[in-house]
Amino acid sequence: MTSHNDTLFARAQLSTPGGVNSPVRAFRSVGGTPRFITRAEGPYFWDADGKRYIDYIGSWGPAIVGHAHPEVVQAVQDAAARGLSFGAPTEGEIEMAELICKLVPSIEQVRLVSSGTEAAMSALRLARGATGRDMIVKFEGCYHGHADSLLVKAGSGLLTFGNPTSAGVPEDFAKHTLVLDYNDVQKLENAFREMGDRIACVIVEPVAGNMNLLRATPEFLQAMRRLCTQHGAVLIFDEVMSGFRVALGGAQSLYGITPDLTVLGKVIGGGLPVAAFGGRADLMQHLAPLGGVYQAGTLSGNPVTVAAGMATLQLIQAPGFYQRLTAQTAKLAKGLTEAAREAGIAFCADAIGGMFGLYFAKELPVSYATMMECDKTRFNAFFHAMLDDGIYLAPSAFEAGFVSAAHDDTIIDATIQAARRAFAQLKAN
Ligand code: PMP
Repeated sequence: MTSHNDTLFARAQLSTPGGVNSPVRAFRSVGGTPRFITRAEGPYFWDADGKRYIDYIGSWGPAIVGHAHPEVVQAVQDAAARGLSFGAPTEGEIEMAELICKLVPSIEQVRLVSSGTEAAMSALRLARGATGRDMIVKFEGCYHGHADSLLVKAGSGLLTFGNPTSAGVPEDFAKHTLVLDYNDVQKLENAFREMGDRIACVIVEPVAGNMNLLRATPEFLQAMRRLCTQHGAVLIFDEVMSGFRVALGGAQSLYGITPDLTVLGKVIGGGLPVAAFGGRADLMQHLAPLGGVYQAGTLSGNPVTVAAGMATLQLIQAPGFYQRLTAQTAKLAKGLTEAAREAGIAFCADAIGGMFGLYFAKELPVSYATMMECDKTRFNAFFHAMLDDGIYLAPSAFEAGFVSAAHDDTIIDATIQAARRAFAQLKAN
């Protein structure tokens, strides 16, 4: 019997390239048919065949309080009943800006936008506009959305200017993007020594979540802070994923490092499209209408999306919220590691706050290069075994996973049990 998911996927591919509105949803890397989701609640969602899954994607990060949390849904319904969009300012936007500034103290002023891509792109433009410099530094494996200057990967060797990793990005843009190795302090120092006066900004995921989960070393982030200050470059922390995810104050609060600008998204919209960039007030003052750096948005600060974001930001401030989230995620990582060890499979897991990484490798990866050595074929087999068993992991060996406040002990234990079965199956094959 053909499944509804198969039918929908075949139909979707006729009207939408690849059948999806964002590439990783297509299961290209793991193979098989993407599940079409009909509804979600707490830690679960259901597909078009009525099958229930424990969800570890959480909409790729936003669903930190669990799906369809009654308070978030109520806030959205109330806001929608008052009107969907005004194109004029509202008090809700001020409240959200004030709350973001309070929770992330490096942010003195903030502007709301609708996607992480837009926020990162705007932060780059601001850094370039404020410094009058063109060059940006990024790190291989870090994703900052799909703005042209950011779709660039490293060439080989030190200080090689990158080639675009997407067709349609002009070489002229790529040549202003210098791509270095994550966690490599020496290369960063060399870059600043050779061209420090041309670097507008360094943009980094302070906890990387787009090449699986990779921790920055404190030395790496400290060196970045020191070099940016010395050379008058803007330090941008892209906390679209790590913000309100690894801790209430984001990765910057865990590392004790103050960036000049921060990019936020995902959790701050609670599942609706809200993102933001903010930081030092003297930098933010360069934005239109005050300054010469242009940035705008028809739906920026939309009243319904802001209501969802505010309801979520209220819930995550509950006492003990991050202690519990961190403990549950750590319990999952530990349980999976033990299950793999029992089965004799080379595997490790890591967790920070409500984010985790799964690695089919003997040791935790410490760089992009070691991350790429993880066994992708084994991951794919594990992914499908878990999926069949009702556990939905990110459909790629190089994406992080997310736990929500709705993932209680029963959910985590059920996941570890399923992993035991999956590892045993891997061992047998
Ligand atoms: N920066 C980071 C660190 C991200 O993880 C993402 C999305 N996964 C983005 C930027 C882009 O955000 P969006 O998909 O909302 O455009």
